[in-house]
Amino acid sequence: MSPAELKESIHAVTPAHLKERLSGLGHPAYRADQVLEWVYSKRVDGFAAMTNLPAALRASLEEHFVFHALETVRVLGAEDITRKYLFRLSDGAMVESVLIPASPALYGEASDRRTLCVSTQVGCAYGCKFCASGLDGWSRNLTPGEIVGQILQAEKQSGERVSNLVFMGMGEPLANFKNLSLALEILNAPWGVGIGARRITISTSGLAPQIRELAEQSMQVRLAVSLHGARNEVRQQIMPVNRKYPLEDLLDACEYYAERKKQRITFEYILIREVNDTLEDAKALVEVARRVDAKVNCIPYNKVEGLDWVRPEESRQDAFMAVLKRAGVTATIRREKGHDIAAACGQLRRQTMAPAVAE
Ligand code: SAH
Ligand code: SF4
Repeated sequence: MSPAELKESIHAVTPAHLKERLSGLGHPAYRADQVLEWVYSKRVDGFAAMTNLPAALRASLEEHFVFHALETVRVLGAEDITRKYLFRLSDGAMVESVLIPASPALYGEASDRRTLCVSTQVGCAYGCKFCASGLDGWSRNLTPGEIVGQILQAEKQSGERVSNLVFMGMGEPLANFKNLSLALEILNAPWGVGIGARRITISTSGLAPQIRELAEQSMQVRLAVSLHGARNEVRQQIMPVNRKYPLEDLLDACEYYAERKKQRITFEYILIREVNDTLEDAKALVEVARRVDAKVNCIPYNKVEGLDWVRPEESRQDAFMAVLKRAGVTATIRREKGHDIAAACGQLRRQTMAPAVAE
């Protein structure tokens, strides 16, 4: 391990922890609040900029902590439309974040909602058959500092504050539970990034035990479940995780979450032609959505290079939606905004890394 790796990320400490560390190093504990104010309110890039701190403290911080800023490798898109950022981490691994402005159609012209879609792992171990993120397997978990760093870097690059967060980038958030929890604490805290818990959505492929664990935590984050199949035989064809946690277990965990948090969860449902888009599938989806009182968000499949799946024609999407609507299920269809820049999660990274892989 290099000396830099032995240092703690300054983007991964809570006030309580920093106070303890500073006291241990012989500095007054109250300095921790000042340090975090420089980090999150003033957004400085290094300890040298913390001009109201004594030089000895700055030197000590320099010795034990590190600013691991993410490096921006590529940006696709432009102001007012979806922007995709490809970030390089300190070990050279790459992750993506996507900044999505409010849709005037949905939120009105005046809305300043800006949603950032963030990654939680490098690659993904869950191997869903339709997804680009899992194609090269799983490399590692992101650290709490790297999760927080995506928001800081996207805000720095865009010059805008992020109002909402969705954990729908690369990786399975609930498989990186410990690091996710600390990152959430920092992102939500008034001393940290200060994004309200109800403006944070965690998306999971359906890790039932971790859904229950998240339900036990006090933070009111929202839960989205990647369902993509409302019958086991359909779901397990495209999502191997369904063999470990079949629909019965998953739906029980969803019910538990909704009950504990007094919250409606969302089922994400990608429409893939001739895989999960029949009227029978729509009826099965009505059943499970009713059971959990969930909202449904349908997403026409985004083509992934190298995979054969395709989206159904619009008439077929409409027929599917009509079944849900007729049954009184709250359902929307998201006709992807980012579609033309580079489609779903994990794809920008693959495109950029492809030449290196081919060599
Ligand atoms: N691992 C988590 C979060 C990341 S994936 C999860 O699976 O929920 C975020 C969402 O993008 C998931 O709903 C996933 O199923 C969806 N997705 C993956 N590939 C897609 C594609 N090609 N087109 C549309 N949505 C896709
Ligand atoms: Fe992983 Fe989610 Fe993609 Fe499945 S859909 S491979 S869980 S990132």
